[in-house]
Amino acid sequence: MTKKFYITTPIYYSNGVPHIGHAYSSLIADTIASYHRLGHEDVRFCTGVDENSQKVVESAESLGMETMAYADMMAGKHREVWDGIGIRYTDFIRTTETRHRDYVQQVLQKSFDAGDIYEGFYEGLYCVGCEGFKKESDLVDGKCPDHPNKLLSYLKEKNYFFRLSKYQDKILKFYESHPDFVQPRTRYNEIIEFVRGWLEDFSISRETNKFGIPLPFDATQVTYVWYDALFNYLTVVQNDEKKWWPADMHVIGKDIVRFHGIYWPAMLWSAGYEAPHQLLTTGHFTVDGQKMSKSIGNVIDPVAYISEYSGDMLTLYLFTAFPIGEDGDFSRDQAILTYNAKLSNNLGNLLNRAIALALKLDGRISGSVWKVWSDKIGQYISLMDTSDLKGSLELAFAYATEINQYVEENAPWKMDIEIPEQREKLENILFILLSNLRKISIMLLPFFDLKMRELLTRIGTSYDDSISLSDNLAHDPSEFYIAEKGEPLYMRITTSK
Ligand SMILES: [Zn+2]
Repeated sequence: MTKKFYITTPIYYSNGVPHIGHAYSSLIADTIASYHRLGHEDVRFCTGVDENSQKVVESAESLGMETMAYADMMAGKHREVWDGIGIRYTDFIRTTETRHRDYVQQVLQKSFDAGDIYEGFYEGLYCVGCEGFKKESDLVDGKCPDHPNKLLSYLKEKNYFFRLSKYQDKILKFYESHPDFVQPRTRYNEIIEFVRGWLEDFSISRETNKFGIPLPFDATQVTYVWYDALFNYLTVVQNDEKKWWPADMHVIGKDIVRFHGIYWPAMLWSAGYEAPHQLLTTGHFTVDGQKMSKSIGNVIDPVAYISEYSGDMLTLYLFTAFPIGEDGDFSRDQAILTYNAKLSNNLGNLLNRAIALALKLDGRISGSVWKVWSDKIGQYISLMDTSDLKGSLELAFAYATEINQYVEENAPWKMDIEIPEQREKLENILFILLSNLRKISIMLLPFFDLKMRELLTRIGTSYDDSISLSDNLAHDPSEFYIAEKGEPLYMRITTSK
């Protein structure tokens, strides 16, 4: 039976257009999904929008629009961004959809019947930015650390609460027996420390909000946006839960790791489901050393960015500038330099050399002497299997550097093709170059699908979609064929605008 792989991005708040920070999570999920597809797994990749939020109501009001008309417009904009940067999702969910409302009401009823939801009162400071109550100890200078520009409001209202405290031991045991549950490891350590502290029951409904999913057992209350939003991951697979659940990976930002790492497993257990397999947590990044903000004007629109430069440049730089999980900086200049160095020069050089040399012969290259840097394959697979995208890219480009060095050391351009011995030697060097270039391109395929397929075509071979990526890597064609010089695969980008 084909192995399944179910991966999700966070569902993004629909009251803003996705920027490069959101694109980062989606590109990670897209690359990992692509790797599993190439590995011949049955892949489901879900993204979407979180709409049952007070922020959506307020943003609609500020534009003088009906809430749903605004939500429809924004959902369209989100899809435009993902389609515009080539995110290959299989499912797009909006939390205002009927399928989602019905599903959330079912799971709420299950937890209510299990005695995990009870009525109480909540009072405290509430941050609209977080859609959550804040404890005094969470505040910095009396403000929400994530939303210093938003005023906190004091709320007291009847709420329903989820009995998180009941699951404390189970969560801790789960963490101890699933050391890979939260990636990277540093984030896991942080969460497990938090779990070791006291887990308080949390409010799962709002009395004052009108927009949202009504509780099935008390229609005067709507479901807390976080409670409803997390279940999106199950809503999309509800017709085939046995196959798809538990999810294999939720890609999330570090700011929402507590919701996913603590509340979510308990909410699932309460409703009779298993916890997901893994949370892959991303860090935050600044742009040119500054926090992204509309007032500074450094918010990067991913669609505009890739149309100005290149999608491969965006992926390459986002994945190599800092490891997944760590905070970093997105330097526009460094992005260009990285692209030029790795794609245009390093990889581009290998291809140019192969083409120039092959055209000196008749373009058809077969070889009998093998030299394949085969240890790279095992390393690559284990890096990809642990979602080390930075490590995988670095490995592929270091591999390209080694092959470039190999070619330089052997100086095939010095060979005189009129002398049979030298012609044969040239052909062998070229065969080795092409065999390894082919492997490098396959390693880069989950990242740069279109260009790598083009590269393979140019050297007279192709990726065999009927077998897995690792089988493609293990296999070596006996001949390559280069027909023409062609344009550079990656045009150099000049930094001066
Ligand atoms: Zn906040």
